[in-house]
Amino acid sequence: MNPTSTNRKTASVDAERLRQLPSVDGLLKQASVLALAKAIGRSRVTDWARRAIDELRERFDSMPSVDRDTLVGEAVALIEARAQAETSRRLRRVINATGVVLHTNLGRAPLADAAMDAIHDAARYTNLEIDLTTGRRGRRGALVEELWCELTGAEAALVVNNCAAATLLVLQSLAAGREVVISRGQLIEIGGSYRLPDVFEASGAVLREVGTTNRTQLADYEAAISDQTTALLRVHHSNYRIAGFASDVPIGPLVTLARGRELITVDDVGSGCLSDLSPYGLTGEPVVRESLRDGADLVLFSGDKLVGGPQSGMIVGRRDLVEQIRAHPLTRAMRVDKLTLAALQATLEIHLAGNAFEQIPVLRSLTLSADAINNRADALVTMLGERRADLKVNVQPVKSPIGGGSLPDQTLESWAVALNTESPDRLAETLRTGCPPVLPRIENDTVLLDLRTVHSDEDSLLIERLAQI
Ligand SMILES: *Cc1c(COP(=O)(O)O)cnc(C)c1O
Repeated sequence: MNPTSTNRKTASVDAERLRQLPSVDGLLKQASVLALAKAIGRSRVTDWARRAIDELRERFDSMPSVDRDTLVGEAVALIEARAQAETSRRLRRVINATGVVLHTNLGRAPLADAAMDAIHDAARYTNLEIDLTTGRRGRRGALVEELWCELTGAEAALVVNNCAAATLLVLQSLAAGREVVISRGQLIEIGGSYRLPDVFEASGAVLREVGTTNRTQLADYEAAISDQTTALLRVHHSNYRIAGFASDVPIGPLVTLARGRELITVDDVGSGCLSDLSPYGLTGEPVVRESLRDGADLVLFSGDKLVGGPQSGMIVGRRDLVEQIRAHPLTRAMRVDKLTLAALQATLEIHLAGNAFEQIPVLRSLTLSADAINNRADALVTMLGERRADLKVNVQPVKSPIGGGSLPDQTLESWAVALNTESPDRLAETLRTGCPPVLPRIENDTVLLDLRTVHSDEDSLLIERLAQI
């Protein structure tokens, strides 16, 4: 046989095989594909069917069998896999078994039940900008601002999208074209490409850095003040610590210096700690009310760290300054929506009622005793053992990082359900890709489910997931 006829023969076999490929229409008639098309839209599923056929065509040479039913089955499996992949990318609830209480990649603070209910309610028409007693126009967020004043002792408050927005707004509305003095030790970067020097640049305020990375004295600030200066800014190093030969100027002396020179003092405290957490072993977070009491003109912080609310950023402090910021055109671009306000309102009401440590998940998680977690871990392992005696599980002491740009060098004693397996990465993937997804952490080749961050009403869900692995 000469080479040409071999080629011709192969070509005709290929053509014969290609005819076995299912058609798009044929695939769309398959029950499971039809169901997908109904659920998520015909045009998307048609596109997936087309891609499945393309993929089969490419894989043809390595496929032993070409009978039509097998090919249809393969194509349907590809379409279903794609649907599955889409599902896992959808934004949805996960079980956080990492032990990291404030996990930015997991959406930081889980909300209190009352805050979730408030969001559900506010998803309809609301009285967002209507005063229900007069029927006249009301100001969005006015009540939440008042609640902030009660909670922190501030004269006025403004709620924006996040703390980054708060910083940008303050700099731009109060200090554009003017100088703001800050310690070199406080030029922070926070995950998600927030770098303070870049925020200055974007705001038009001029960054005047003083001191050194590890030590800054009051005299450094004093020497840097000129007739160009508008404010002194202190920024809490939320996500790192400078230890050893280090010193920083507290807000009190900064305020005294600023007042003597008619400057504003701005304190970016970051996590929005509303009460002293040191009785729970958590130290070093500035408390909003104390910063205001020490005389800071404006205090900035996030709503989804230690406040335990939705993503938002607060500017609290002197009324004249807050009103000046409110009047800036950028404020309109950074305002929060009704869902955020609803959740924030419910969260602040819990704080004001004195129930924060019982009802706000972040604070509950941070203050759970190691013993309580240990008991839950024991119970979980016992129950799991009744269903899956073959699994190698035990209860193990661990240290939970706090995370989320708060309390960097502090960990909490905790307990985890430890799963011993040959391939921890595979098991972690199985846990992540099931329903609901479970996010463990891996330490020393062991898959750990740290129960500090698992809400106690999720324990049974967790058992279900583990029983299925
Ligand atoms: C977290 C943090 C920010 C950024 O807050 P977002 O609400 O995430 O924008 C800014 N400053 C400090 C000190 C922080 O800790």
